[in-house]
Amino acid sequence: MDAFSPRPPEWIQNATHAMGFCCPACQETPLTAKRAWLNRYAPVTDSLHRRRWQEFYECQCGSIWWSWSSDRPPSPYQKDEDEFRRGLI
Ligand SMILES: [Zn+2]
Repeated sequence: MDAFSPRPPEWIQNATHAMGFCCPACQETPLTAKRAWLNRYAPVTDSLHRRRWQEFYECQCGSIWWSWSSDRPPSPYQKDEDEFRRGLI
C-alpha cells in the first residue's frame, strides 16, 4: 500500500464524501480498509488556519470514501506517516 504516493491512484475517482470518519455504507472504520491514500500534496486551510487534506479509503465492503484529515481520530497510518516524514521509510 502506497498511502503517501504523490500521484492520486485511480481507485479514488468514485469516492464519496463520508461525514463521519467511517464507511458511509457499513460504518466500518479505516482500521480495516483495504487501501488508503492521503492527499497530502493538496492541503487546504480552513477558517481557523488549520491545514487539512482529503483521506481516501477503500472499505472491505467495496465502498470507496473520503473524509477530511481534521475529522480523523488517531489513525493507524499516523505512525507510518511520522516515520515517512522523518525519512525512515
Ligand atoms: Zn464499508
